[in-house]
Amino acid sequence: MTDVFCQVATGELIVPEIYRDPLVVAFLDHRPVFRGHVLVIPVRHVDTIVDLPAELMEPLFSTAQRVAAAMPTALGAQGSFVAVNNVVSQSVPHLHVHVVPRSKGDGLRGFFWPRTKYADGEAESYAARLREALGGNTGAAGRLEHP
Ligand SMILES: [Zn+2]
Repeated sequence: MTDVFCQVATGELIVPEIYRDPLVVAFLDHRPVFRGHVLVIPVRHVDTIVDLPAELMEPLFSTAQRVAAAMPTALGAQGSFVAVNNVVSQSVPHLHVHVVPRSKGDGLRGFFWPRTKYADGEAESYAARLREALGGNTGAAGRLEHP
């Protein structure tokens, strides 16, 4: 499988890189949410976070962490937004971690996150289904304490 981020990983496609090691590359998104928006990818092709091998977990996310940590100093940002889209809204089918510089009042409204509510007893049902899929052993009753 070859995609545009595989080409970035091999160096076939030249992009503004900010970090590279044998396992991970970080570079500027060519259509940033805000200037300084970085994408962190594994050099090896991986479709989504679900497919990420354990040995790449730490290299990928520690790089994202270092990029986020650098944003206040490098860009004057107050913080950052770190996100991964899997399949839905994933523009390139090669796992990439977005690290977007954020500051209060930056006007970010592009992420449309409508919030909903659980009906009575519904949260317990969702929690139970997820606990079962995770194989149990996730602690106590898992009650959601929302007013
Ligand atoms: Zn790829």
